[in-house]
Amino acid sequence: MDRYRIEPGTLVDLTRWDPADQSALEDDKKTARRELKALNKRLEELQELLYAEGKHKILIVLQAMDSGGKDGTIRHVFDGTNPQGVKVASFKKPTDEERAHDYLWRVHRHTPGSGEVAIFNRSHYEDVLVVRVHNLVPPEIWNRRYDHINAFEQMLADEGTTIVKLYLHISKDEQKERLQARLDVPHKQWKFAKGDLAERERWDEYMEAFEAVLSKTSTAAAPWYVIPANRKWYRNLVISRILVETLENLDMHYPNPEEDLEGVVIT
Ligand code: AMP
Ligand code: MG
Repeated sequence: MDRYRIEPGTLVDLTRWDPADQSALEDDKKTARRELKALNKRLEELQELLYAEGKHKILIVLQAMDSGGKDGTIRHVFDGTNPQGVKVASFKKPTDEERAHDYLWRVHRHTPGSGEVAIFNRSHYEDVLVVRVHNLVPPEIWNRRYDHINAFEQMLADEGTTIVKLYLHISKDEQKERLQARLDVPHKQWKFAKGDLAERERWDEYMEAFEAVLSKTSTAAAPWYVIPANRKWYRNLVISRILVETLENLDMHYPNPEEDLEGVVIT
């Protein structure tokens, strides 16, 4: 899945990344669905192993435009994993207490402990995305945050956290369809926020802000992946492959059993 990873120091131009790309697909869609099932099973096993070994910590950061598929990714890719070892943290508009602190304060407490997977549905990157687009703080303040974020993530990595950052890339047309579906389908209406339309009007500014994030904060310790996300099944396939690959590279082992288990008789 290297093709979707941003090498550190790359200047990213998102107009050159196709949200409908399917180039990692070797076979037809039907085979891909079978592969996805197998990957899902494998991810389940690897997460069980991670939890049992209790050594590594995994942080997955999800960022996207509204309706980009963050919730769907969490539902589908982690389907079947053990809720005891997988924690989701969603970051909304900061509360008064959060706003009274530095922007990493609310994030740090949700980072994974040993044996855990933490999934960030939005993250500290909002503080250089929505905050930048809406001038919620002056440029000199958000501008220095890229360095803070790199240092923060490097610290987490140095202390044993494996970090995977996923930007779900959809097209503006695809977003229109998804927002329209939220309006039209009664059980999806709860997800429709009128405010999303105001954000949509700033699409180009958001793309610029995402390009800055991808260009400045993809590091060896915490790489960004640009996931083609117009097609949900392909998005899930690519993400599942990345996560399985990442976990397999950790070389994990089940803890040694207690000694002399052969002699144990259960009466
Ligand atoms: P949702 O994820 O759809 O529930 O929406 C959460 C909203 O909170 C989005 O509009 C985000 O842009 C906004 N949000 C998240 N973090 C921040 C932040 N640090 N500053 C301002 N708005 C934020
Ligand atoms: Mg929303």
